[in-house]
Amino acid sequence: MTYLFHRSLNNTPPAIVGGLGINLWDSAGNTYIDASGGAAVSCLGHGHPAVIAAIKKQVDEIAYAHTGFFTSEPAEKLAANLVQSAPNGLNHVLLVSGGSEAVEAAIKMARQYYIEKGYPQRYNIIARKQSYHGNTLGALATGGNIPRRENFLPLLIQTHHIDPCFYFRYSYDQEDEACYAERAARSLENKILELGPETVMAFVAETVVGATSGAVPAVLDYFKKIREICDRYGILLILDEVMCGMGRTGYQWAFEAEGIQPDICTIAKGLGGGYQPIGAVIATDEIYDAMKLGSGSFQHGHTYMAHPTAAAAALAVQETIQRENLLSAVKERGDYFAQMLRNSLEDLDCVGDIRGRGLLWGVELVQNKKDGNRPFSPSVNLATKLKKTAFKNGLIIYPNSGTINGRDGDHILLAPPFIISHNE
Ligand code: PLP
Repeated sequence: MTYLFHRSLNNTPPAIVGGLGINLWDSAGNTYIDASGGAAVSCLGHGHPAVIAAIKKQVDEIAYAHTGFFTSEPAEKLAANLVQSAPNGLNHVLLVSGGSEAVEAAIKMARQYYIEKGYPQRYNIIARKQSYHGNTLGALATGGNIPRRENFLPLLIQTHHIDPCFYFRYSYDQEDEACYAERAARSLENKILELGPETVMAFVAETVVGATSGAVPAVLDYFKKIREICDRYGILLILDEVMCGMGRTGYQWAFEAEGIQPDICTIAKGLGGGYQPIGAVIATDEIYDAMKLGSGSFQHGHTYMAHPTAAAAALAVQETIQRENLLSAVKERGDYFAQMLRNSLEDLDCVGDIRGRGLLWGVELVQNKKDGNRPFSPSVNLATKLKKTAFKNGLIIYPNSGTINGRDGDHILLAPPFIISHNE
């Protein structure tokens, strides 16, 4: 082992030294196809000249200045770019350094909003099982990923988790998608009534569930029903699009496919495409105005927020996606990718489900699909083994191994860069 605290304390991973397009190579000369974009980060692939040039230009001008004193052109332009692509009302962007920070900020924004509006008794957060919202304490408390939470439970704020919208694992026999959507959404209403609507602050959900469930989109109309319930009880809807946002599903904002809009949305990974660490929170006029007309500031700040170099990189990534019309490429290449996945894997007894949207796909591994789609026991650690075998053979896929609760089985996540060609 080296001096660095690696993710695994039992082995030092190979050192990455280069990358171009969807390919990476290490210091030993091994090459890899980046089929998961890291974890759905690399939307433009590696070594994109426009993004590299934007970073170099920015560093030559000014690398960093504290936001307590200055704004910067790339941060302003990035915020404007995001607002222009968002639906009416989502007009205010907070720039941070990653997904967990974005979720933390979103939660605090919701809390401060209710204080400014004169409802300090609203603090309860409802989220979903089998979700992931980040690794910092507030985000970890909000997520429903059991293994990532369990060591830290005594440190986590109390949150409330309802069942996810995951038709493959949670629907009853013979239950159609419409009935399931109704039942899954009703569990939110039941939880709100149980807690007391006047105490609930926000419902937090990934629009398409990423790492913990493996690219699971909601069934039709689920989010419309969720939006109605939130409105009925005056609860903020926070959509976490850290993984599924910024074009990954073929829509700039994954919620566009659901026909609704959130009050607050978090984004990260594909925002900067991995070229710099960056995340963002976008919020409505209603939330921004409550703070502006109330205390006059959002009680939140980080040293590296709105970092000019990170903003310049993200702006170049987003402008490239727009200039090269990559959203429609994601839809078209995503359809082809899904077809290829189905052609090669669908008939295997150990593949229970292939689902996703755009270029975000999950393959659910089961003991035998002809025998009830039972997940493998967590001790098998199948997805992790598959990841290691694929890696040895030059293919990067993102694994999730199941837990004992029996419904979150093993799956692998595939999220190649938007620039992938049909051949690749
Ligand atoms: N939210 C979602 C939906 C995520 O997928 C992730 C990361 O995988 C996060 C939040 C946390 O983001 P980060 O790892 O950048 O802190």
